[in-house]
Amino acid sequence: MLDMGLEIIHLGSGSRGNSTLLISGNSKILIDCGFSLKQTELRLKKIDIEPKTIDAIIVTHHHGDHSKSALRASKKWGSKLYSNTETAIKMGWNPISECRTFANLERLDISEEISVLPIPVPHDDAENIALIVSNGDGNRAGFVTDLGEATVELKRHLKGCSHISIEANYDHEKLMQGPYPDSLKRRIMGRGGHLSNSQTADIIKEILTPNLKTLVLCHLSDRNNAPHLAESEVLMQIADDFGGSIFISGQDGPDFKIVLENK
Ligand SMILES: [Zn+2]
Ligand SMILES: [Zn+2]
Repeated sequence: MLDMGLEIIHLGSGSRGNSTLLISGNSKILIDCGFSLKQTELRLKKIDIEPKTIDAIIVTHHHGDHSKSALRASKKWGSKLYSNTETAIKMGWNPISECRTFANLERLDISEEISVLPIPVPHDDAENIALIVSNGDGNRAGFVTDLGEATVELKRHLKGCSHISIEANYDHEKLMQGPYPDSLKRRIMGRGGHLSNSQTADIIKEILTPNLKTLVLCHLSDRNNAPHLAESEVLMQIADDFGGSIFISGQDGPDFKIVLENK
């Protein structure tokens, strides 16, 4: 369980697909598998990862941009598929032969190296979860997308993390001035929608500790956001207290890799 660090590679993030690769020691897992099978394999091959070496795929919720090719990938690669019970039911996955189900807030050992804690977050008709990943060397990493607001529980678990990937979905002004109908604008802004740049900035400011080394903003809306808006809004809130690096994960990845060294 020692001396292996944790590598984080976003294969891409946005409304057209999300998937993040985590590597620790001999373990490789994907959080979400929302691209086509072909795209996912292509992106893995770009970074010299043989898809069949993926041990497990964890799906956060049933929306297509997170779940699209998860079942087919798990069957083709021989990777274990995981989700909570509600998501498995919504996907029509057989909870015994196709998918291993877990309960929210119960720590789950995915492999010898990686364990995850699923935390429920409010999102539309979905039983969505954020994930806190640890690999036994003292590093914790949080992965948070698709939520209308952060719960007290989520913030408690994000505090102290060495790495956080979190959505910054929309710029409030851009959304308001944009072409979406009012009902859709209200849904995006609501408790079950997505986080705005300023909500994300507030969350990070609130949970920031010197432990936080890397921050990835993800799931940016093409129409209602822009990378420089998301980054500047968050940096404006935390700049004085944040000594780490900030990255943006766009729809087309992978284009950067984060390595958390052993503590
Ligand atoms: Zn969603
Ligand atoms: Zn999504």
